[in-house]
Amino acid sequence: MLPFSVDLSGQTAIVTGGSGVLGQAFCQALAECGASVAVIGRNREKLDQVVQSIKELGGTAMGVAANVLKPEELRAARDTIEREWGPCRILINGAGGNRPNATTTLEFHHPGEAEVRELVTFFNLDPESVASVFNLNFLGTLLPTQIFGESMVRKGQGVIINISSMNAYTPLTKIPAYSGAKAAVSNFTQWLAVHFSRSGIRVNAIAPGFFLTEQNRPLLLRDDGTYNERANKILGQTPMNRFGRPDELIGTLLWLVDEKASGFVTGIVVPVDGGFSAYSGV
Ligand code: NAD
Repeated sequence: MLPFSVDLSGQTAIVTGGSGVLGQAFCQALAECGASVAVIGRNREKLDQVVQSIKELGGTAMGVAANVLKPEELRAARDTIEREWGPCRILINGAGGNRPNATTTLEFHHPGEAEVRELVTFFNLDPESVASVFNLNFLGTLLPTQIFGESMVRKGQGVIINISSMNAYTPLTKIPAYSGAKAAVSNFTQWLAVHFSRSGIRVNAIAPGFFLTEQNRPLLLRDDGTYNERANKILGQTPMNRFGRPDELIGTLLWLVDEKASGFVTGIVVPVDGGFSAYSGV
């Protein structure tokens, strides 16, 4: 299924959020290119499924349960992975997402909204939910980078790929925490690329357009599974007029991880979006 193949044999790759919809595609592609892939997530059953599917195709993988917001769990994961395969060479920071309770009900402020109890408005957005989305996406990228990046620096080689979003360029309505956090991820990608530029480590990000996955299902589908108004609006703003498929991120991922293909590329955020970020809507 790969668009092209690069040789990653002998390299240890770590994918956080590796049992998610996009994360799984990343794990499978890296394993197909010969990397030993450590799949990090919180749900053991889902991790086992991804590992099994990689092994069935002849790849090398292990599932390691860890929360990207818990440094002690990440350190334990690092020790387990390094004991088996040596230091991390490729880190994909894929864990992230939005939460319904950090989302306003309406797109635009409405003068009468305060009287409607069940609405989540800007004024009653729960600060803890906002913090949890912000932390998952931003700190959930920074902490694994601190912990897995240490061995990269020691070896003087490594590739880090963060996952940003269209929200980083222009925020979508309703999701201020997610949008702000992804803007921070893009900004951090540039900061870290500069910081590590003399240490042999390249840092880039992919900004996917819209892909239907677990974390955005409640925002995009009605209860009966059909596209809601927001999903149709997204499609209307996506010149290619469809959602992306996870495998359509793989060409960019492999280009960015391969030293021979992108050895002088660091600090960029690549949109993979069916034209969304190029389109003014007119
Ligand atoms: P997903 O929900 O399928 O995957 C997210 C994964 O992150 C899940 O496996 C989840 O268990 C894991 N995760 C969540 N919190 C975690 C934590 N604290 N510790 C460890 N793992 C945790 O969603 P996805 O769409 O595949 O998301 C992958 C990445 O792509 C996310 O960063 C998301 O923000 C980003 N993204 C997605 C889209 C899209 O359209 N789907 C667009 C732009 C960016």
